[in-house]
Amino acid sequence: MSFSSLGLSPSIVSAIDALGYKQPTEIQQKAIPVILSGRNLLAAAQTGTGKTAAFALPVLEQLSQGQTQRKKRIRAVIMAPTRELVLQVADYINSYCKDIGLKVLAMYGGTDIQPQKQALIEGVDILVATPGRLKDMYYQRAVHFDEIEVLVLDEADRMLDMGFIEVITELVERMPEERQNLLFSATLSPRVRALAKTTVPNPVEIAI
Ligand code: AMP
Repeated sequence: MSFSSLGLSPSIVSAIDALGYKQPTEIQQKAIPVILSGRNLLAAAQTGTGKTAAFALPVLEQLSQGQTQRKKRIRAVIMAPTRELVLQVADYINSYCKDIGLKVLAMYGGTDIQPQKQALIEGVDILVATPGRLKDMYYQRAVHFDEIEVLVLDEADRMLDMGFIEVITELVERMPEERQNLLFSATLSPRVRALAKTTVPNPVEIAI
């Protein structure tokens, strides 16, 4: 199976070719067509399986298709538990979307807020953020949720372990209802399923 047969367009396929990805991994084979179809997704996949590309590639594909009415507002939010993971996810996305012209920002706490605010003013399409800093920025009105098309919760079980349940729920309630939701977690524990129930309605479920 090839990446183009999963429905990804040539500019994305050439970016991942350049990274040396030869074939989609199992989670990519299963998740990419579901995400491109617009459905919500609940996926159990460990780190190391290629899960980041499994959500990042189809999200980029979809955002690149609807790029004409750009309003300098965030179109995709990816929440991840730690600064390290946020940076890693943003780095992968940047390497996948070199030729597409989408702007990616990594946002996390414990660092000067001003450069992140400036980047938001200049225009960010895809925001990768820890929940705590995202909440701060939202209440400071530096982040606007009204154009969000896609929400990704990455490593949801770790975010719950770190006590982010209330912050995540509160933020998601403030997002437009018409959006696609993707939740990735190493395990689908009852707590993860409870979070999914309110944030990822009627999902396709995948476990690898
Ligand atoms: P992840 O599970 O997202 O943390 O990814 C684990 C590693 O696999 C990362 O270093 C990716 O760059 C790499 N990777 C993701 N998809 C593929 C693929 N289809 N072929 C080869 N390597 C990949």
